Amino acid sequence: MKNVVTAITEHGNAQDFAGLSLPDSFKAVTIHKDETEMFSGLASKEKDPRKSLHIDTVPFPELAPGEALIAVMASSINYNTVWTSIFEPVSTFGFLERYGKTHEDAKRHDLPYHIIGSDASGVVLRVGPGVNTWKPGDRIVAHCLSVELESPLGHNDTMLDPEQRIWGFETNFGGLAEFAIVKANQLLPKPEHLTWEEAATPGLVNSTAYRQLVSRNGAGMKQGDVVLIWGATGGLGSYATQYALNGGAIPVCVVSSPEKAEICRKMGAELVIDRSVEGYKFWKDDATQDPKEWKRLGNKIRELTGGDDADIVFEHPGRETFGASVYVARKGGTIVTCASTSGFMHEYDNRYLWMNLKSIVGSHFANYREAYEANRLIAKGLVHPTLSKTFTLEESGQAAYEVHHNLHQGKVAVLALAEEPGLGVTNPELRAKHIDAINRFRQD
Ligand code: NAP
Repeated sequence: MKNVVTAITEHGNAQDFAGLSLPDSFKAVTIHKDETEMFSGLASKEKDPRKSLHIDTVPFPELAPGEALIAVMASSINYNTVWTSIFEPVSTFGFLERYGKTHEDAKRHDLPYHIIGSDASGVVLRVGPGVNTWKPGDRIVAHCLSVELESPLGHNDTMLDPEQRIWGFETNFGGLAEFAIVKANQLLPKPEHLTWEEAATPGLVNSTAYRQLVSRNGAGMKQGDVVLIWGATGGLGSYATQYALNGGAIPVCVVSSPEKAEICRKMGAELVIDRSVEGYKFWKDDATQDPKEWKRLGNKIRELTGGDDADIVFEHPGRETFGASVYVARKGGTIVTCASTSGFMHEYDNRYLWMNLKSIVGSHFANYREAYEANRLIAKGLVHPTLSKTFTLEESGQAAYEVHHNLHQGKVAVLALAEEPGLGVTNPELRAKHIDAINRFRQD
């Protein structure tokens, strides 16, 4: 292992990397197939990722055509790490079993353990047949869209490929490990001014927020749009806020503490709603919503904006907020959703939707081009990582626990082969220029 890390820190060339001998096995964060019922009967918040996430020593998988083996320097915790670790809404082993049945190379993925993780920064070590663009030694980040692209249906927008999967969630050999397997079309150049752990954190959420808010496949935000952003300092929201500000829109940031409100202001957002102060109760009980509370939120937005309603609502909390989100969008506005953290059976009053010609748009991750554009903005210092805290691979359970309980801000990173935080920067000038913005979310 030492030789791999030495080659990376000493900037070896392609030959050095291609000739490196690899160990027989490596460390990875896994869940186990024989434990999928371990939390049966417990409420979601009582399901503890520290109990279900393991550090295992696993063998190297074979490298298939079109793939790359990467040395992972750092990875991150996403909310899908939480879903996987609590086996909700379903166990991810079902994804692996189904994928394993699709073709010969996919059989490798159907194992009694699942190596999870949908982000990585690191270095390419080996490439499979048919990979020409990337070579050993390339410093990369990996986005999490895995596609087969053999069907014509995926060729306008790769997210529409019938064999589209999220790497490290619906496939095995994910990024929370010392080594990982990715398809070559998941690779993007590592932003030079960032450390390994900073570079590992934007991938999944940044690309998702880009498609959801900016891309024509999502809400297609334009200058002057009022954008209501739920969880504006969370994984997705911390990027949505930056996109709204960069794109000349007017973010109205919703958060749940004065500290988070302050981070929004540091990002440059002026209109902030602290939901812990406002105390919205959109649901009177499990089955009944309170339209008066939707109205109270709408009035607050008008008060902050000087009378405007939200052109776009950036939705992901789901059941708890969706009725309010549909209500507060302006006539002709868009509610763009990519998730349902608080429950996926949404209820809203359809009269407000059809009579006011509003649209609900579904959005999921991002295609390769969108992920590339989102990463390019990071690499140019136009959008910044929102890293708050860094954990070791062994502490992944604790890291996932903190995200599960909303104790984090922005993103949390996990070091894999990087021996300490702070390594991997190759453009210190660009870093110096943006250091305040890079550190805005730091808690450690
Ligand atoms: P996160 O880092 O936990 O941030 C979400 C934020 O939303 C929280 O920090 C919280 O902020 C706010 N929030 C949570 N529950 C809420 C509620 N009931 N009402 C109002 N606000 C609430 O998570 P994330 O990375 O942004 O992901 C959010 C969701 O999107 C997850 O379900 C995740 O699985 C999903 N997701 C989907 C995709 C996709 O491609 N489809 C991609 C990324 C994430 P405050 O407490 O400050 O208000």
